[in-house]
Amino acid sequence: MEIILLGPQGSGKGTQAARLARQRGLVHLATGEILRAARRAGTELGNLAASYLDAGQLVPDAVMIDLVRQEIRSAPSGVCLDGFPRTLAQAQALDETLAELGRPLDLAVALELPEAMLLERISGRRVCTGCGAVYHIVYAPSRVPCVCDACGGRLEQRSDDQPEAVAQRLRLYREKTAPLLDYYARDRRLREVDARGDVEEVYRRIDALLPVSS
Ligand code: ADP
Ligand code: AMP
Repeated sequence: MEIILLGPQGSGKGTQAARLARQRGLVHLATGEILRAARRAGTELGNLAASYLDAGQLVPDAVMIDLVRQEIRSAPSGVCLDGFPRTLAQAQALDETLAELGRPLDLAVALELPEAMLLERISGRRVCTGCGAVYHIVYAPSRVPCVCDACGGRLEQRSDDQPEAVAQRLRLYREKTAPLLDYYARDRRLREVDARGDVEEVYRRIDALLPVSS
């Protein structure tokens, strides 16, 4: 089962992908988190990505396609991609890579949420500076304020969750990523899911689209 989660920033892709990984044994590949981790570690990739991350711009396709090719080739089958593809070139490259591996994409799940709710989720999002775990000040708070439940790291707001970068990211989503819904609808790989409601409710909607688990 190879799946991708599509949807605007704040629609809950990372949250749901983490849950799919836990409950369905899928490998969660989150390109934004890979880039942020690379930046925290000060690697070449992290240094290259830093200015794009802060400005809410897309990292160039060539870099992202190379990165995801390597990640998928070294992952066992059963990947859930979150944050990739974001452009048509990335979607085509993903199809090629999966075809080469004989593991075609089964499903593209698009999470749908009204803009006001996206903004509410994004403005309350806090991430762990140590392990990248994601919280929300109202909907998914940590046990101790500002401290990660998992690793004790400090929680903070992502630099690209500030209003200016958010506006830019949502603009780019509409311009470059939303057209991918058509790309996947054309050959019936797209399923749209209402992302309103709590994490459990949304998970149940996604889970219902996947084969019954054994
Ligand atoms: P994305 O990966 O699509 O940008 P996230 O999974 O990071 O979105 O979710 C954005 C924020 O909203 C996070 O702070 C997360 O804890 C919170 N969140 C995710 N799903 C829900 C939900 N169903 N209800 C309320 N808050 C949610
Ligand atoms: P995300 O965590 O998915 O919101 O991604 C955070 C940031 O990482 C984006 O705003 C981009 O700067 C970068 N990024 C993540 N995935 C991609 C991608 N597929 N293509 C280009 N840039 C990406």
